[in-house]
Amino acid sequence: MSVTLSGRELAAQIRAETAERAAGLTAAGRQPRLAVVTATADQATVWYVRTLARAADRAGIACDVTDLVPARPDRPESQDATVEGIRVALIALSENALIHGIVLQTPLPGGARLADLAGDIDPAKDVDGANPVSLGRLMTGRPAFAPATAEAVLALLDFHQVALSGRRAVVVGRSAVVGKPVAQLLLARDATVTVCHSQTVDLAAVTRTAEVLVVAAGRAGLVGPAFVAPGAVVVDVGTNATAEGGLAGDVDPAVAEVAGALSPVPGGVGPVTTAVLLRHVVAAAASPSLS
Ligand code: NAP
Repeated sequence: MSVTLSGRELAAQIRAETAERAAGLTAAGRQPRLAVVTATADQATVWYVRTLARAADRAGIACDVTDLVPARPDRPESQDATVEGIRVALIALSENALIHGIVLQTPLPGGARLADLAGDIDPAKDVDGANPVSLGRLMTGRPAFAPATAEAVLALLDFHQVALSGRRAVVVGRSAVVGKPVAQLLLARDATVTVCHSQTVDLAAVTRTAEVLVVAAGRAGLVGPAFVAPGAVVVDVGTNATAEGGLAGDVDPAVAEVAGALSPVPGGVGPVTTAVLLRHVVAAAASPSLS
């Protein structure tokens, strides 16, 4: 049976450090403030934003939510107006000295792409690393906020003392919010990285080469025991809603019989992601420029 790479203890540790720094900044007249812009009635997103706002509050971080749901979600002109409203909001928040961190929540209306709209977030306030400038800085080793989920994966591996230098890492998924930045962060830590996606031929043959396997595909149970080398460390980023109202990862729990270590869903990467995001807000409040 594999070791469980729980994220709960690490998340609590990050939250405690963050709350302490936030209290210091507030005492100095600079309370960290996060702005979340959301434009969807999607229930899972509404629930997530509420959870994030509560977590911010508990850490002593103010959180303003700007809700821009289209008046007529079925009408393209209403969606276009909302997209324009998002741009205006992001520019205003970027210019507002009282705001330290900005998150643009997905999904976005009318097929708008996060990478297009997030270009309007000041990189110094881009606490979830969504602006293409932040990703470029990450690629080139310059100061930037990494997407919180990607940084959470690395933080989880470090917390459980998983060595990375010189090891074969495989990432399943190549999105700009998870797969690509995770691959980049692993590369920066001297792992030898392979990135897989939906067109990868014989996925299992590739994932079996991994000593460290990170799965972020958004497909419940995609990675089964036959995909994993004995003793490998497996991080499951997937969060898929189940018919019973629960949460399932991308990795079949039976992988625990083969792997050396496996992160659970829920209770693995998820809680660390929220904690890292709030840590970024406090860092942005403490030092409002990137370099
Ligand atoms: P995404 O934008 O949909 O990207 C999914 C990636 O997986 C794509 O690159 C896709 O390949 C690849 N993929 C899909 N099916 C595949 C298959 N059968 N074989 C191999 N690759 C496959 O999703 P995302 O935003 O990166 O999120 C990934 C998962 O992480 C989701 O479950 C999401 O809910 C979860 N997530 C969790 C957290 C957290 O805090 N725990 C945060 C963010 C996201 P193509 O590029 O070829 O389409």
